[in-house]
Parts: sequence; structure tokens; C-alpha cells
Amino acid sequence: FSISMDQFELEDELGKGNYGTVRRVIHKPTKVNMAMKEIRLELEDQKLNAILMELDILHRAVAPEIVEFYGAFFVEGCVYYCMEYMDAGSLDKLQGVGVSEEILARISGAMVRGLKFLKDHLQIMHRDVKPTNVLVNRQGIIKLCDFGVSGQLEKSLAKTNIGCQSYMAPERIQGESINNVGTYSVSSDVWSLGLSIIEVAMGHYPYPPETYANVFAQLTAIVQGDPPTLPDGFSDEACDFVARCLMKEPTRRATYSELLEHSFLVKDEERGKDGVDMVSWVAGAIEWKEKERLKASATADLGL
Ligand code: ADP
Repeated sequence: FSISMDQFELEDELGKGNYGTVRRVIHKPTKVNMAMKEIRLELEDQKLNAILMELDILHRAVAPEIVEFYGAFFVEGCVYYCMEYMDAGSLDKLQGVGVSEEILARISGAMVRGLKFLKDHLQIMHRDVKPTNVLVNRQGIIKLCDFGVSGQLEKSLAKTNIGCQSYMAPERIQGESINNVGTYSVSSDVWSLGLSIIEVAMGHYPYPPETYANVFAQLTAIVQGDPPTLPDGFSDEACDFVARCLMKEPTRRATYSELLEHSFLVKDEERGKDGVDMVSWVAGAIEWKEKERLKASATADLGL
């Protein structure tokens, strides 16, 4: 079936990305809550149609670890993309509360299975693995979103690469500086996965901007320095798991199958569905986020 703007009631704003806004909407015919992402492209209709056709493969991206796609349409040069609403938001906003090894393993397992699904069933790489693109709901379910299915869309999004947090693998950073494209293979996603897992464990991006004089110094540290490691308190097993993702040499990085067989994830599997209380962790993380927000607004009110 096809969807159009008049079928939606617009609700609150969920967040702003680099290219547009994400809002919660209600699909009136079905009363389903959805998240609608607006991507401002300012392209002619023909190009927008080509993008919509490419996005169609998302209807095949049905897996427990992938955010469900409902459909897309365009209005006045903007693409609107409707997907499953994840009511706890993205992982980057929840991670500051801290994670136990069990929670970290559960999140890692979902990410690996999601990435493996994209590779095995859709023959695509994610290309933008980072905590912002890992969504969570209050049932404690973890899902991936924002993977690169449309070459046309990717080309149209200005390659600004802004922001001071790069999740790109060393070979990709180096490649971009040489030919502006970067050599890219699925192992580059494995690096970004490792970096994201460390970020979730630390509660912040592993190459903190304040440590480096500028973005160039930061990128140099990624390319030339030792890879980051998990903070104290995690098992040798967990440390080995991320180390296998963060090998500087891409061919030495683990494959998704190897990661699934790693004892860090095998133990998670053995704990079973109810063996880890994700629901309480998500509830606690949301509460923590709300407290942080109140603290920040109180500080702002005091003019500090
Ligand atoms: P970016 O361009 O930085 O990847 P997005 O535009 O994808 O960001 O999303 C912006 C924010 O909107 C995210 O950080 C997330 O908090 C929120 N968001 C995106 N998709 C959803 C969704 N399906 N459900 C709930 N919140 C979402």
C-alpha cells in the first residue's frame, strides 16, 4: 500500500539529524505510532522517484534487530521516510547511565546479528554504525537503523562529514584523504561496531575531542595510534571481543560469524531471553537522562 502526508498526524519532535528532523507521527488509518524522518534534498522529482525505488528494498529488511520500514514518499523536494517508532530513542542518549557486562553483551549481540542479517540477506553493508543509529525501546529491544540501501540517496546527501566524532575505520579515513571515496568493505563496519561498543561501555566517545587540538589530530590518533580498549571492570573475554573488532589491519578483524561464536556472545546466548533485565536497564537509563536534562536546564536558568 502507499502512504502520503495526509495520512499522518504530526506529534513531537524526536531528534534532529544532519539532514533533517525525525518526528513521532500517528498513521491515522492504522493508528500506529511511527517515526517519520524528513530528509531535505531539493532534487527534481525524477531523482526522488529513483531514491524511492531504491528504498523499496527496505521492505525486505525484516529481522528482529532491524527497525521496521513502513514506506517513503516525497513532498516538495523532501523525502519522508516512515519507520517503526522506538520509544526509548537512540543508544547514545542512554549510555551515560553505565552498563554491566551482561547488558553490553546483549547490545553487542543484537548489533552483530543485525549487521550479519544485512550482509547475508540483503548483501549490504551498514556504512554508518554508531550509537546514534542503534535504537532501543522500553521492552529492551535493540535495533539498527539508517543503513545505506540507496546509492542515489547517499550521493545526494552532501558529503559534509561534519561532527567531531568519527566512527570510520582507519583505512576508510586514509582512503578518503587520498581519493575522497575511501576503500570500504564489511570489515570497516566491524571497526565501527567495536568503537560503538566501547563508547557504550565508557559512556562517551572513545577519542574525546578535548584531548585533541583539532579534528585532524583526532583522526591521526585513529589512524596511527593504538586502538581504544574497554574501561576497567570488564572481563578479559569482553576486552578480547572488542579487540577482535578493533584490529587496525582490516583483514585481521573478526567476521560476524566469528563474533557470534566468541565466548562473550555465546555466554549472552546462554543467559537466555529473560536472563538479562534489559527492561529495567532501559527504564533506569531514561530516568537518568531525564535527571540530566533537568540538571542542565536548572544550570541554564541560574545563568551558569
Ligand atoms: P543522524 O542523522 O544523526 O543519524 P537521525 O536523523 O537519524 O540522526 O535521527 C535523529 C534522532 O532522532 C536520533 O538521534 C534519535 O534519537 C531519533 N530517532 C531517529 N529514528 C527514530 C525512531 N525510529 N524512533 C525513535 N527515535 C528516533
